[in-house]
Amino acid sequence: MNKKLKIALVAHDRRKRDMVEWAEHNAAFLSSHCLVCTGTTGGLIYQAFQEKGITAEIIRMHSGPLGGDAEIAAMVVRKEINLAIFLIDDLNPQPHEADIQMLLRQCRVHNVPIACNRYSADLMITSSLWDDDAYIPSEPQYIQFERK
Ligand code: PGA
Repeated sequence: MNKKLKIALVAHDRRKRDMVEWAEHNAAFLSSHCLVCTGTTGGLIYQAFQEKGITAEIIRMHSGPLGGDAEIAAMVVRKEINLAIFLIDDLNPQPHEADIQMLLRQCRVHNVPIACNRYSADLMITSSLWDDDAYIPSEPQYIQFERK
């Protein structure tokens, strides 16, 4: 890929093993991009990469429950994130549900690709559209549907 992407990586506690495995599996790809992570997720990826001698640019925000998701959502609003991988624990309630919904909503509103499972993440990082300068993503429209 010719571009350097800013990729948000967020994983809830019971999804962190999956995230670290996924990041290790895709280390060759991720090491040439900038990874913006919530605090604990970023720390675990950093540690896993260090143990394997992989260097990557990793920016750690606050931990999710302390505002990390909200910080990343603000970056999404400012168009500073190209892609988000968000492994949500769908089987247990989270104290920061409001922030989780905010991050998801802002990705939808600002047309930022967001993968909530590894399969989607794999598809997104292997897409040829990243290098297709002729491809212009169409922004969501919020208009009443009218039959012509
Ligand atoms: P964490 O935050 O990486 O700091 O655990 C993730 C989250 O709970 O949103």
